[in-house]
Amino acid sequence: MEDLIFNVAQLMKAPVGTSLVYDLHAEDIQLDEDLKVIGPLKGHVRIRRTNQGLLVDGWVELTLELSCNRCLKEFEQPMHVEFEEQFYPTVDVVSGLPLAPFEAEEIFPIDAHHQIDLTEAIRQNVLLALPMVTICREDCKGLCSQCGHDLNLGPCKCEPEVDTRLNVLKALLENES
Ligand SMILES: [Zn+2]
Ligand SMILES: [Zn+2]
Repeated sequence: MEDLIFNVAQLMKAPVGTSLVYDLHAEDIQLDEDLKVIGPLKGHVRIRRTNQGLLVDGWVELTLELSCNRCLKEFEQPMHVEFEEQFYPTVDVVSGLPLAPFEAEEIFPIDAHHQIDLTEAIRQNVLLALPMVTICREDCKGLCSQCGHDLNLGPCKCEPEVDTRLNVLKALLENES
């Protein structure tokens, strides 16, 4: 994942407010074991020196393979995900001495080689951006609950489901006659 790793040693020595911008391009990226990324990830980031570390903001575009909650087919979902994250140093950039670990959550480390790896930040933001319900298309008809036929391919031969309470009533009426 070297395309998402940046050396920020010079930036950490620069005055607060200094920023660098990079285009992102990563092939064959695996963000998460539950996410299949199809094709390259593209994006753009700005890395800005802050008082305590770096502020990284930008966006990524990628296509995920998801499975439809209605018809269970796999489909491709293009995503545009914006993010903004803080990175804090773990060693002093001038002396090389380790710094006290920071306690705050949602902060990412600048490692001992003065590198930041955007992979984890991007993974978390992509997961957050995923819809709760994934459907292959707005009007997906799903599967027949009785025979499992994909109703997007046309109707099946099943009778429409009848409420079982009505069936009981019907049986009672038929017994009486
Ligand atoms: Zn579907
Ligand atoms: Zn059916």
